[in-house]
Amino acid sequence: MLVDLKVSPFEAREVNMHGLRQAPLGEVLFDGCRVPKSNLCPETGDTARLLTLTWLANRPLIGLLAVNIGQKALNMAREYAGVRKQFGRFIGGFQSIQLDLAEIETAVVSSRLLCYNALAALDRGERANGLSAMSKRYAVDACDRAVALAMRIHGAMGLSRELGLEQLARDVRSLTIPDGTPGILALIQGRELTGIDPFR
Ligand SMILES: Cc1cc2nc3c(=O)[nH]c(=O)nc-3n(C[C@H](O)[C@H](O)[C@H](O)COP(=O)(O)OP(=O)(O)OC[C@H]3O[C@@H](n4cnc5c(N)ncnc54)[C@H](O)[C@@H]3O)c2cc1C
Repeated sequence: MLVDLKVSPFEAREVNMHGLRQAPLGEVLFDGCRVPKSNLCPETGDTARLLTLTWLANRPLIGLLAVNIGQKALNMAREYAGVRKQFGRFIGGFQSIQLDLAEIETAVVSSRLLCYNALAALDRGERANGLSAMSKRYAVDACDRAVALAMRIHGAMGLSRELGLEQLARDVRSLTIPDGTPGILALIQGRELTGIDPFR
């Protein structure tokens, strides 16, 4: 259905968001909005199937956006660990910092590989509903934690607006919701594993 604002007034507003502020989110309210019958699309077709196909590719691609953010956080944390000195030594020499760096790198690399794995399955024309859902859910969650660890390595400066890490934290967290919340993605994966539909 096509809704012409001049003929069928509706409300639209921008929603002030936590992250991804360069791509603003909008809300459209069609309360009491009357649309002429001639604006209905003649054939709706198999929209659900087309949407599912789009989501299958979108999910690992959103996962890779999270990977890019996680990689930036890793680069920053690694560099900082090599220049910041405390108690007469570079903090990169402390075991706990090395452990955090190892955790961040593991999160970034494993997320990247899961997303590539899902995309490769799609390229081969295989059914990838579970792989696609798993890759986004895992990558966004793992990279969210990776950014949090990178912030911790930076101490107070990690929380500052100067370095940009807090923006990475807001952006990666915002990727949790579009194209499938973690709860819904887990259910999709569970449906693939069990063959039982949890949505009906
Ligand atoms: C950055 C961003 C970009 C977006 N881009 C687009 C876009 O381009 N186009 C578009 O159409 N939308 C877009 N969205 C909207 C997005 O698709 C929805 O916000 C998302 O699907 C969740 O819907 P909701 O916010 O209504 O939450 P709700 O559906 O109200 O969910 C609330 C909570 O309940 C859980 N829940 C809901 N239903 C079930 C269920 N059946 N079983 C178990 N748990 C359930 C969810 O997992 C979630 O935790 C975007 C959102 C964001 C944040």
